[in-house]
Amino acid sequence: MPAALVTGASRGIGRAVAEQFAADGYDVAVNYRSSDSAAREVVDTIERETDQSALAVQADVADPDAVEACVDDAVDAFGSLDHVVNNAGINQHRYTPELSPEDFQRLLNINVVGTFAVTKAALPHLEDSSVSEGPSVINLSSRLAYSGADYEPHYATSKVGIIGLTKSHALEFGPTIRVNAIAPGFIETDMTDATTSEEAKERKRQDVIPVGRLGKPEDIGQAAAYLRDASFVTGETLNVNGGQRMQ
Ligand code: NAP
Repeated sequence: MPAALVTGASRGIGRAVAEQFAADGYDVAVNYRSSDSAAREVVDTIERETDQSALAVQADVADPDAVEACVDDAVDAFGSLDHVVNNAGINQHRYTPELSPEDFQRLLNINVVGTFAVTKAALPHLEDSSVSEGPSVINLSSRLAYSGADYEPHYATSKVGIIGLTKSHALEFGPTIRVNAIAPGFIETDMTDATTSEEAKERKRQDVIPVGRLGKPEDIGQAAAYLRDASFVTGETLNVNGGQRMQ
C-alpha cells in the first residue's frame, strides 16, 4: 500500500487531508504535537471507515530528533513513505509593538524550519518510492503570504517562506520528487475560530468571499489530493480561497 505522512493531523485541515488520503487508498501516519486522544480518534475513524492502516505519531515538528523518530516510525509501520503533507503550523494574533523577537522566532521554527526538517527526514524514503504518480511533498502556505497581515506579521512572513522553500525543493528534488504548496483562504478550524467573531465570519460570507461561504477543511483535502496525483505539476502554489484572492 502507498503511504503518506500528514503533520498536524489531529484536527482541522490536517485531519481532513489524512482522511482524504485514506479514502483514496493511502495508509496514513497522523502526526500531532499534544492532542493524543484527538489523533487516536483520527486513526480509529480511518481504520473504521476505510481499508487503510493509520498510525498516530507524536512529534513537535520544531524538534529535529523527534521528527526523525516520527518519520522512522511511519516507515517501520507501512514499509514505505510516498507523500508528505507539511500541514502543522501555528498562528498568533499580535501587532508588532506587542510581538517579541522570541515569539517571531518560535513561530518561524514551527511553520518554516519544521516544514524543512520533516521534508529533510523524509527525503531518503521519498527517493525510494515507487508510486505511479511519483512521490511528492505538499506544504501549507496561506493567502496571507500574498496580502500580508498587519495583526500577524510573523505568520504572513512564515507563509511567504513556505512558498520559497516549496520552489527551492521542487528545483532541488526534481525529477524524482514533486514539491507543491497550497495557499488556503479562510478555512473554518480551531485556528480561525479562536480569532474570528461570528459577525466577522458573516461579513466574509456576504461581502468578501465570492463563492459566498467559508472554506471547509475538506476543501483543502481535495486540493492536496489533486497535487498528490498531478504528475506534471511541481513548484506551484495552489490558491484555494473561494475567490477571495484573484490575480
Ligand atoms: P489547527 O486547527 O490549529 O490545527 C493545527 C494542527 O497542527 C494540530 O493538529 C496541531 O496538533 C498541529 N501542530 C501545531 N503545532 C505543532 C507542532 N509544533 N508540531 C506538530 N504538530 C503541530 O490549524 P488549521 O487551521 O487546521 O491549519 C493547518 C495549516 O493550514 C497550518 O499550517 C495553517 O497555517 C494553514 N492555514 C490555515 C488556514 C485557515 O484558515 N484555517 C488558512 C491558511 C493556512 P495538536 O492538536 O497536537 O496541537
